Amino acid sequence: MIARATRGLDLGVELSNVCNLHCNHCIRGPHQSQLDHLDLALLERIVAEASSMFSPLRVVFTGGEPLAAASFPDAVRILRARGLPWHMVTNGWLVPKHIDTILGHRPAFARVSLSGATPETHDRERGPRSYRRALLGASVLLAHGIRTEMSMVVTRESRNELEAAAKLANQFGVAAFHFILPQPTPDSALLGTDLSPAEWKTVSLEILALSKRSSVPLRLDYGAYQPEPRERCATMSMRQIYVDAQGRVPFCCQLSRYGTGDEPIIGNLTTESFATVVARLEERYADFAAESDVLVQIGKVDAMDDYPCLSCARKHGRTSFLAAFPEHPWAQLARSA
Ligand code: SF4
Ligand code: SF4
Repeated sequence: MIARATRGLDLGVELSNVCNLHCNHCIRGPHQSQLDHLDLALLERIVAEASSMFSPLRVVFTGGEPLAAASFPDAVRILRARGLPWHMVTNGWLVPKHIDTILGHRPAFARVSLSGATPETHDRERGPRSYRRALLGASVLLAHGIRTEMSMVVTRESRNELEAAAKLANQFGVAAFHFILPQPTPDSALLGTDLSPAEWKTVSLEILALSKRSSVPLRLDYGAYQPEPRERCATMSMRQIYVDAQGRVPFCCQLSRYGTGDEPIIGNLTTESFATVVARLEERYADFAAESDVLVQIGKVDAMDDYPCLSCARKHGRTSFLAAFPEHPWAQLARSA
């Protein structure tokens, strides 16, 4: 069990699974079968309990699009009342609408997500004028002195825009620019927009080269090529916990609502205390790490296991949808764990 209030925690919160956009690469799925909204009384209880266990506690609002959640202003007020730091990942569209709320309790930073570094690529995925709206959102945040970062998923569509992304980052003077190699989704598999493992490696090297001549830090998000033995990720090191809009705690935000099969839900905060769920997470992560170590020791791993999140998703049975796409570059993920 973790010593109380001696360690920090990033508490990811899905206020709702609503998004005003419908990206094919969205790991939550572009079309949700039901709409969920996190109860604000539950949010208040969760942050109260989490604050008593972790310090500092930082709240992270992620997708669904946090600014599309009707509860966003009240959720920020809850954090302000407790003086809790927060940040968010947003597609940028609704920043102008919510700027007063944002300034009422300024985030440590905001990350504006992109599907491409040109209007053509980004808007093809996110709809007409999305690129302008995203950049306007980033501009508004920057104009108010809020630390602003950007991110871009690298797909077959945006693969040739790494340099353009670096240029954009430097033109805007954002605090950092993150490149994401996105997990395949049923929609991206159908459209054929996923890069192959070999292309992921090449892209990673290109980003590394670009980062060496960029004033703005260019970063590759977790999930890229990282063979065993590797350190435990932030989730399995208990540095981040995610709560979905039903109040459930999945194994990881990366697996929440992702793929097919039963969701790996570890706890439910509508009926359980935060401490109970944290204790169960610790046990589950320790068991999972031990099982993974055994597989490495007996050589029961393949090239897919060099990619931590895809390996993890496969072990949780979340990538079986790829069985319908035998030509897919990650088709090996279709095999069950
Ligand atoms: S903007 Fe983000 S949350 Fe919304 S559909 Fe696209 S990837 Fe998903
Ligand atoms: S999907 Fe698994 S490996 Fe990736 S961050 Fe989550 S827990 Fe860690």
